[in-house]
Amino acid sequence: MSVMSGEGALSVFARAKELEAQGRSIIHLELGEPDFHPGQSVIDAVNKALAEGKDRYCAVAGLPALRQEIAAYLQRTRNITTVEGSNIVIAPGCKAILFFAMMALLEPGDEVLYPDPGFPGYPSITLGLSAVPVPFELSSRNHFQPDLAEVAAKITPRTRMLITNSPGNPTGTVYTDAVQRGLAELAVKHDLWVLSDEIYARILYDGEYLSMLRYPGMEERTVIIDGFSKSFAMTGWRLGYAVSPPAVTEALAMMAINSYTCVAEFTQYAAIDALRDKEGNTPRMVAEFARRRDQFVRDLNRVPGFRSQAPEGAFYAWVDIEGTGISAEEICRILLDDAGVAAIPGAAFGPSGKRFVRFSFASSVANLKEAAERIMKASAAWQGSPVGR
Ligand code: PLP
Repeated sequence: MSVMSGEGALSVFARAKELEAQGRSIIHLELGEPDFHPGQSVIDAVNKALAEGKDRYCAVAGLPALRQEIAAYLQRTRNITTVEGSNIVIAPGCKAILFFAMMALLEPGDEVLYPDPGFPGYPSITLGLSAVPVPFELSSRNHFQPDLAEVAAKITPRTRMLITNSPGNPTGTVYTDAVQRGLAELAVKHDLWVLSDEIYARILYDGEYLSMLRYPGMEERTVIIDGFSKSFAMTGWRLGYAVSPPAVTEALAMMAINSYTCVAEFTQYAAIDALRDKEGNTPRMVAEFARRRDQFVRDLNRVPGFRSQAPEGAFYAWVDIEGTGISAEEICRILLDDAGVAAIPGAAFGPSGKRFVRFSFASSVANLKEAAERIMKASAAWQGSPVGR
């Protein structure tokens, strides 16, 4: 346990809540949580399931009807034609299934390549399993794309897994086709597992989503992690899933038996409804995020010392704050304590995030406008610094 770590987002959230309890007005831009809720038909579906007594222990890997619906959804939205319900295991959140997939596939001493900056769980879980996290940098010089030469150079005989995350948290980068093809070739050549965290696949502002599973040789070595938190604004429902080759699916079902038994039955019925999305909730939410992204990134780029490019996916503004002349930690402290805007210092996502701050723009337009005004006012604190002038 001593080698695992928490999450910057959750600790900033706790501090922001403390300030709120003291009567301060806080704009929460720290958590990666859509400010939407699932549509009425999803609420109706969960109520109906409960009224019908669907509140029992149920199938370990998930309801067959939901697993099949996910396979159809992946075909419809990601052009994945090779997956069936039997390749899918449902879990209480992406994080849980991410953890179990890594636990199933890694031995102590195995090396895991993962994006830096990236989701903090990747290195933390790796360390918790006595495996070795090996970061590859997502650098602004490379538009936050993985550098294929760097990844190749870091592969050793002990490398066992490559983690990809497109669109990525915290940078919002969508890996290019060429990068994904290159990563897939490396995985085949060195016989690596690919853990493709596709939780933001639907929060995409342009083009068609390219899943790692669709590249040659990927079917037998890829575990897709996805779920309902972001694409369907269902964070608190705790619903995620893995898509994997049969042997891994079996292992994940074994993990389920030995830990959570099954996911709540009634939420799974509602999840079927969410996937069908007859009301078009997901595209509407994503169109709204696109509007906010344009406005908020424009506003942030007006702040002295801030520099940000519009993300291609997910709902985070990843801001280079080097021009302010002070540290990201100090910026976030000023923003929270003096301006009431909660954001996360980039180092919470790995050492390469050191000179960045992450803002979530999954907040109302009014909140984002107000946040931008508060940040602009607070920037007086660093405009006097030598680099920030
Ligand atoms: N993976 C990434 C990249 C994330 O950003 C998050 C949530 O922030 C998760 C996984 C966890 O998602 P869930 O809420 O389904 O556990």
